[in-house]
Amino acid sequence: MSEVNVVWHEHTVSHQERVALKQQQPVVLWFTGLSGSGKSTIANAVERLLLDKGKHSYLLDGDNVRHGLNKDLGFSDTDRVENIRRIGEVAKLFVDSGSIVLTAFISPFRADRSQVRNLLAEGQFIEVFIDTSLETCESRDPKGLYKKARAGEIKHFTGIDSDYEAPMAPDIHVKTDAMTVEQCAIKVLEYLDVKGYLR
Ligand code: ADP
Repeated sequence: MSEVNVVWHEHTVSHQERVALKQQQPVVLWFTGLSGSGKSTIANAVERLLLDKGKHSYLLDGDNVRHGLNKDLGFSDTDRVENIRRIGEVAKLFVDSGSIVLTAFISPFRADRSQVRNLLAEGQFIEVFIDTSLETCESRDPKGLYKKARAGEIKHFTGIDSDYEAPMAPDIHVKTDAMTVEQCAIKVLEYLDVKGYLR
């Protein structure tokens, strides 16, 4: 693949102008956790709180992205890496547009998450660890996937026969076993508020 003749085109409207218009600091809230841990549920609740405050956000959700942009990818380790790489690039474009981006992907590997962090400027990547025990995720089993994985109908299922590398120093650590969805969402919003992302 040759990128030699592809030149980055400068936009007439600058990033700073987009940020000023939206009155917020664009950032990626990168939710990571086991399947069924609550990433989508909490990210949706955070988006609702942001919208109520007049903030501009967009949620990139695992299942939705796999229906379109990444529908050619499966769940092998190689495909998971490419899945996260593409999402990172898309998230970066949204940040450039001035949005607060929420991503809800298992993203089991530390190296991939830090690769996305490295794509972005300092302070533009917030790792949100949705920390829910495997037992709780399995008992919730919102999509019936654990049942299938235990029956051997799904291979490479994170937490069963594929690794999940928990963040060692997440920016936000949400333990859902002991909190309601609303409490979890408020914890994320308070972080954004305190760190000045909503100004
Ligand atoms: P993921 O996106 O991580 O795969 P989902 O958000 O799709 O997980 O599913 C999580 C399930 O757990 C939902 O059915 C949700 O209602 C339930 N749930 C129960 N308690 C909580 C909580 N405190 N936080 C998040 N989800 C919770």
